[in-house]
Amino acid sequence: MSDSGGKDRKPATRLVTGGRRAEWTGGVVNPPVWRASTILYDSVADLKERQRDTHHRLYYGRRGTPTQWSLAEALTELEPGAEATLLYPSGVAAVSTALLSVLRPGDELLMVDSAYEPTRLLCDGLLKRFGVTTRYYDPLIGADIAGLFADSTRAVFLESPGSLTFEVQDVPAICAAAKARGIVTMLDNTWATPLFFPAISKGVDLSILACTKYVVGHSDVMLGSVTAAPSAWAKLRQTSYQLGQTASPDDAWLGARGLRTMGVRLAQHQANGVEVARWLAEQPEVARVIHPAIPGCPGHELWQRDFSGASGLFGFVLNGGDDAARAALIDGLDLFGIGFSWGGFESLVIPADPQSLRSATSWSAEGPLVRLHIGLEDPADLIADLRLGLDRFRAHKS
Ligand SMILES: *Cc1c(COP(=O)(O)O)cnc(C)c1O
Repeated sequence: MSDSGGKDRKPATRLVTGGRRAEWTGGVVNPPVWRASTILYDSVADLKERQRDTHHRLYYGRRGTPTQWSLAEALTELEPGAEATLLYPSGVAAVSTALLSVLRPGDELLMVDSAYEPTRLLCDGLLKRFGVTTRYYDPLIGADIAGLFADSTRAVFLESPGSLTFEVQDVPAICAAAKARGIVTMLDNTWATPLFFPAISKGVDLSILACTKYVVGHSDVMLGSVTAAPSAWAKLRQTSYQLGQTASPDDAWLGARGLRTMGVRLAQHQANGVEVARWLAEQPEVARVIHPAIPGCPGHELWQRDFSGASGLFGFVLNGGDDAARAALIDGLDLFGIGFSWGGFESLVIPADPQSLRSATSWSAEGPLVRLHIGLEDPADLIADLRLGLDRFRAHKS
């Protein structure tokens, strides 16, 4: 494999070839696990020379080895226009480092109101303690975000679709407005991955992934990444180094292994997810389905315009009923594990309660909300399981 020309090829090809430089693989197909703390130098001159620029050069274990560089480069190749990628021990570490690479005391951060809960906790906790003010904005604001910009606004954080409520944002319009004012944009792109939404080419400066989800794909590793546009790379790299952020080679190796099949997995998550969502939308116990690829989802038209696919995560609102009726539905499901995270090969379910996690907007619905991750099982079996769940819900309600 070569390190040239990767970005001209189609995304499915880049998933297979990305990051497989001969000097990193050593002749095997997948780069092996290079574990290291100490790196040995040939001489004092060699040590001094390598210190000058450690990117993609063995220097010290914390700066990575070919195992991490290979996955990082493969992720960069999925984002046309990107400069480079760094890996983190979790998606939350990727979010926090991206924010810290940009923000200074006195700055204002514009944060989407539908952000992942730990991202919100970071803003209201550590960032506040360090003198950064967070203003939450309506995910559907679009180009009107320009009306919120103040002199102190340093960054806009986007997550599209949003956590739990799945609003699709007008990412290109928000990024264009920010760019015109010299404001940095960062996007949590975990739901779509760069395969369905190449964020840097849409105007985003920092594209963040919880690789824990679809990159790893097997629910067994914590891993995050940030891919930077050329303008945002130097600060991201400096901040990551100063914070001592690093991901283990074993975890990166599992991430690279997962990445090779992410395209075929996502295609199946999409097909199964849409089939289950369409079925749910027709059931009388369901008030509405909230799935970016299905009309009625806030921002569905933007999903049609900007995305090339949908992953397996969506929600549905029950028709009336209370928390206990929702629990009756969820607790008896056979094929859906009750658990956080998602993006693995298996189906998952959680009760979702966004009302306490919104401040710029409010959440009200016809009944309780359920979030599903549709895995790679046969959708007919998943539908049969959900049919019995809706029966339990109806019995509990009446
Ligand atoms: C899971 C998730 C994260 C955090 O990832 P971890 O690897 O669990 O820390 C960040 N953003 C979104 C949208 C997520 O779903």
